Amino acid sequence: MIAALDDTHDPALTSWVASANEPATDFPIQNLPFGRFRRPGDSDWRIGVAIGDQVLGLKQAGLLDHDDITRILKLTPAARRTLRHLISRSLAADAPPASRVHEALIAQSAVELGLPCPIRDYTDFYTGIHHALSVGRLFRPDNPLLPNYKWVPIGYHGRASSIQVSPGRFRRPLGQQGGAADKAPSFGPSARLDYELELGLIVGQPNDPGEPIPMASAEEHLFGVVLLNDWSARDIQAWEYQPLGPFLAKNFATTISPWIVTMEALAPFRRPFTRPAGDPAPLPYLDSADNRERGVIEIALEVHLQTGAMRDAGHAGDLLSRSSYADAYWTAAQLVTHHTCNGCNLDSGDLLGTGTLSGPQPAQGGSLLELTAGGRQALTLSDGRQHTFLEDGDTVILRARCERAGRRTIGFGECRGSVLPPPTLPG
Ligand code: MN
Repeated sequence: MIAALDDTHDPALTSWVASANEPATDFPIQNLPFGRFRRPGDSDWRIGVAIGDQVLGLKQAGLLDHDDITRILKLTPAARRTLRHLISRSLAADAPPASRVHEALIAQSAVELGLPCPIRDYTDFYTGIHHALSVGRLFRPDNPLLPNYKWVPIGYHGRASSIQVSPGRFRRPLGQQGGAADKAPSFGPSARLDYELELGLIVGQPNDPGEPIPMASAEEHLFGVVLLNDWSARDIQAWEYQPLGPFLAKNFATTISPWIVTMEALAPFRRPFTRPAGDPAPLPYLDSADNRERGVIEIALEVHLQTGAMRDAGHAGDLLSRSSYADAYWTAAQLVTHHTCNGCNLDSGDLLGTGTLSGPQPAQGGSLLELTAGGRQALTLSDGRQHTFLEDGDTVILRARCERAGRRTIGFGECRGSVLPPPTLPG
């Protein structure tokens, strides 16, 4: 079942933590996302929940007796609901805070945020049909969408070791770039470095090998959602991707946001799953009544770019594009069910990327590949500079919010990552 609405979603609920009641906060009491933090001098990660501009340490508050996030990921949906209610009641304005809870609060600006959980394994899907169409048009103008796209959620096996938490930094990758037809490839720093605007689904309860997860219970195996930037070297990708898919073009770095917004927190922002007229209905194993009624999650997404020159000038950056997770072709439940249909086991802390989430309009591209038509049409930034692919010193910031009339808006915080110069060429 998909998580249901309850009194933790009441839009009238406020917190005794004043910053949680600010209209612009990403973290009102209706959100309560999980992450891991360290105070200065701490060696071990603690489990925390974001509330306004603060973090509540759950063990220090007496709401947990451990700091093992994997144990939280493994909780049953019923146990997760119980914990959410407990946290919500401890932070609600009508319950004067116990001194222990009060003392367990610390400013987010005073702590280090880690990866929200150890990332066990990583799969990246390709559910953004508008991304698949516009990228397909660049490579295959007459046949942009491959015939399997509307039947099978396409994905590839990514690499968990290079997943980093925001604010992330990585060096521009070196690699092979193909030249003209009968010329040898060159080797050097990628000249077509790009971002991909994605969400990441964090797996909660595992399944055993050989035990597919049916659609009816697929979301019970998801803990929540983070922002994800799948950095991509387009020149390396174009040369290497056939026949086995992305490899070194993608696995040098992937940045995720530090707070996992839970499936429970997303309950008010669901809507029916439909297919455009004329498109095939999903095969029965990818269909369920729950998915048809509420399979889609409405999450509004934004990409911002701050160049090195902007940072030096004290400029926060330009908005590059907006899109919505509601435009994805496959739902979260369909990704879980498809991933396990062959008996593949998912584990707690596995990360399933959605793929680049572009909107239907050209200005809604979720990558520079789309926004610059493959690098042929430069963007003009607010400082007048021309920009195509990422430059050293650039910072890309992803943001997301869920808004609906009659509901308290919740957000995801930021996923921020910066490009450093490449390593010196070997040899
Ligand atoms: Mn991707």
